[in-house]
Order: sequence, then structure tokens, then C-alpha cells
Amino acid sequence: MKIGILGGGQLGRMLIQEALKYDDQFYTLDPASDAPCHNISYFTQGNFNDYETVLNFGKDKEVVTIEIEHVNAEALAELEKQGVKIVPNSNIIKTIQQKILQKEFYKTHNIPSPEFQVVWNRDEEITMPLPFVQKMNTGGYDGKGVQVIKNEIDLQNLWQEASVIESLVDIDKELSVIVARNENGETKTFPVTEMVADPKLNLLDFNICPVFLNEDIQKQIDSITEKFLEVVNSPGLFAIELFLDQEGKIWVNETAPRLHNSGHQSQEGNANSQFEQMYRVVKNLPLADTDSLTFSGMLNLVGAEGFEGKVIYEGMDDVLKMPKTYVHLYGKTETKPGRKMGHINVLADSKEELMEKLVKVKEMVRVIAE
Ligand code: ADP
Repeated sequence: MKIGILGGGQLGRMLIQEALKYDDQFYTLDPASDAPCHNISYFTQGNFNDYETVLNFGKDKEVVTIEIEHVNAEALAELEKQGVKIVPNSNIIKTIQQKILQKEFYKTHNIPSPEFQVVWNRDEEITMPLPFVQKMNTGGYDGKGVQVIKNEIDLQNLWQEASVIESLVDIDKELSVIVARNENGETKTFPVTEMVADPKLNLLDFNICPVFLNEDIQKQIDSITEKFLEVVNSPGLFAIELFLDQEGKIWVNETAPRLHNSGHQSQEGNANSQFEQMYRVVKNLPLADTDSLTFSGMLNLVGAEGFEGKVIYEGMDDVLKMPKTYVHLYGKTETKPGRKMGHINVLADSKEELMEKLVKVKEMVRVIAE
């Protein structure tokens, strides 16, 4: 089957890597000539935000999917009309792309998400009490486009753009759950993972699985995933990012309509990975089992501060000597501070051992430049 992917980054790369054991042809579209997918797929250099480019790219494919959500959804809607299967469909991509529509989607379907106010421009009065979080309607990514407004002084820094003003959650844990639905309506959910963020870069740092939650919390999560899969009305693989607050209540932070960084540990930690599952969704195959096999965790390899240029992975030999430790690099030749260059998955027999190993790996390896 001719499968097109909008975006040629690491998520697409790992999807193709997993799917190469089956018989399909992968086509990718990305503006960067050296994108992680450029040399492992039929690659087109181009802008996935441009209507004509996306239309041209998609018209001779049987299925088009995405590995980034900032794509031209109008072009995908047109491709749907022309009979190309789009996974997930253009409608849900459009909804998720815009924070305002995304928040309204949760509200309409009674999916618990922090209270919010829509602000289209700066002149509008904000009724949400301080402190709150401002999230840009479009263009946010990896912590950009999100800011906490704590007090009157911060109010001067409010962005002008259309945005969502959201109440600040008193977060105990940040959790994530990856769910999938195929065209036949079959659904599968991965075990919940916990994200531990790097306060400086705001990029996901460690991600661990499984997470032991009490029955009530697990029930809240199950009810959210069931509801979401019921109302999403599209085949797809989705990452639902959750907050557990100090009172034991679960809130949906946001959803990504695609493969997600918080699911990388599934490559070795689960019976099947999120990439295998995505492949099956795209092809409308029976969905894969998702059980955790053991304790697993992931560490992002991000470019260290102060280094820019041809990448060197310092300490990698020591990492490779560690048992049940798996290195995944994304084929990016140039590093810069904060750039996601790869990740390392670690397996362990207990949570304590897992955390110990992750911290050890983190101290061992540094992403620097020549
Ligand atoms: P991104 O799209 O960049 O991942 P998020 O919406 O996930 O942005 O926000 C980034 C981080 O900001 C979250 O991981 C969380 O730590 C914090 N955050 C976002 N919304 C809230 C909220 N309503 N209350 C408290 N913290 C929040």
C-alpha cells in the first residue's frame, strides 16, 4: 500500500522502522531536506502547511496520515472528498490544531478539562481569576505557546493572539495515555505512563510505565479514554495528556492526534509499541495488544546548552554496556540546545531499579557538538 505521512520527523521515522517488516511503501513530506525520514522513505521536500503541496502529495496515495498536527487540514478535507483515506480524519485534526476548538470539544462531550475562557483579542475582559494559564489558539508546541500568569505584573506579558485562558491546576502528576481506534471501530488503550518534565526546557524528560494509581483514579482515566474513543469519530492513534491534581482528580490537559513522545518506552516495554499500533490503525488491521511486559522508562536525548553543530553523543559506549538499555537515534546530524536528537529506553524489575537506571543513564550521556 502507498502510505503518505505529513511530516518526516522522528515519529514518522520510527513508524516506518517498525512497519518495514510488512509490505508497504512509505512516502513522507517535510520542509527540511535532511529530515529524519528523508533517506528511509520516498521523500518529498515541501511544506505540509501549504494547500497545493499537501494536495499534490496526497492525491496518488491510498492513505495519508500525519506525524505532526500543524498541517494544512483544508487540503486533507479536499483529499477526503477525492477518496483518499486520511488518518485521523481532517475534522479531528482541525479540532485539535486549535486550542479553542479542542477545549470546546471536551466541554461538549463532558470530558473533564480545566475550566477556561476564550479570548479572541486583547481588549476582551478576562474573568478567570489569577493565577491562570494562557495557551495560544494556534502555533503552540513543546511548551511554547503556553505561559503561566501568576499576578498583576505578569498580566502585562499577556500575548495578543487568540488564546485560551485556563485555570491553573495544582498538579500532583502528569500522566499520558495512548489510545487507538481503527476504521472498524475496534479500540485499544496503552497502560498509563507518567511524565517527569525538565523545568528548564519544558520537554518531556523521563517517562515511566506502569504507574500505580488507586482504583478511583484509574476509573476516572478509563472513563475519559472510553468517552474520547466513542466521540472522536475517526480512526487514529491519540495521546491524551492528563493532570492528576492534589485532590485526586484527573483532568485532560490536551490531546495529540498522533504518535507521541510519551509512548516511546512502549518500543521495548510493552507487548507492542505505539508505532506498531499506528501502523495497524493506518491499515485498518486488528489492533495489537498493549500490555506492559515489565517496568520501562524513557529518557529524551536533547541537545545540551551551549553546543551547536555536528552532533556527538558523549558517553554512549557506557550506555551501550548497560543491560536492558536501548538507544534510539533520529538521524539528525546537527544538534542545538533543546533539540530532540534521540531517546534511550530502559527496562527494570522494579520502579526503584528503573529510576536508578534512568538517572544513571542521564548522568552518563551528553549531546554535544564537535
Ligand atoms: P505543549 O503543547 O507544549 O505540550 P501543554 O499544554 O502540555 O503544552 O503545557 C505545557 C506544560 O505546562 C504542561 O506539561 C504543564 O506542566 C503546564 N500546564 C499546562 N496547562 C496547565 C494548567 N492548566 N495548570 C497547570 N499547569 C499547566
